[in-house]
Amino acid sequence: MTVYSKRKIPPAELAFDIDGVVADTMVMFVDLARKRYGLEDFTKDHIDCYDLHQCVNLDSEVLNELICMTLDDEHTLRTPPVPGAPQVLSRLAQHGPLRFVTARIWPESITQWLHLTLEDVPKEQIQVIATGDPGKKLQILKEMNIRFFVEDRLETCRQLAREDIQPLLFDQPWNRKTLAEEFPRVQSWSQLSEWVLPSSAALR
Ligand SMILES: [Mg+2]
Repeated sequence: MTVYSKRKIPPAELAFDIDGVVADTMVMFVDLARKRYGLEDFTKDHIDCYDLHQCVNLDSEVLNELICMTLDDEHTLRTPPVPGAPQVLSRLAQHGPLRFVTARIWPESITQWLHLTLEDVPKEQIQVIATGDPGKKLQILKEMNIRFFVEDRLETCRQLAREDIQPLLFDQPWNRKTLAEEFPRVQSWSQLSEWVLPSSAALR
């Protein structure tokens, strides 16, 4: 995106969502749906909306169980990272603390996951805030003086943009319905690295 090609995003003004941006949480969800509920042909590309109840063909109760299982401690710790995320974040950590703001209710297991996934980053360089509600991210980000936020949920991006926090929409099947480019869309961590890391450190 040309607007960021000349001016790098200052690391101190940048924060990240976790699920769908750093953690490939829906890979775990799809895996469980296939193995435990027999949805053999189900893939991440079938998840074309954020509200799983509207786009996954499972009974509501079963779906809630599946979501809970995906987010429990055991499966959180087994979730794969989004490709490239550990490399870029490890390099970024050399320029200051990494800040994560998640709508999860409990920060413990996902923080432990970050410590394991970013094994080269000192633990004190990893800050995690769990808001319990996506609507509460805005206030937290304002208090942290964050100006740029990488997020996969369209509604949250819109809310932040209204208050002058620049969202960077991380491309996922569930946020492709809006074709108009409301926000800069990040296709990969390799692309993101060109905006947030010094040129010599960007992934190729
Ligand atoms: Mg997310």
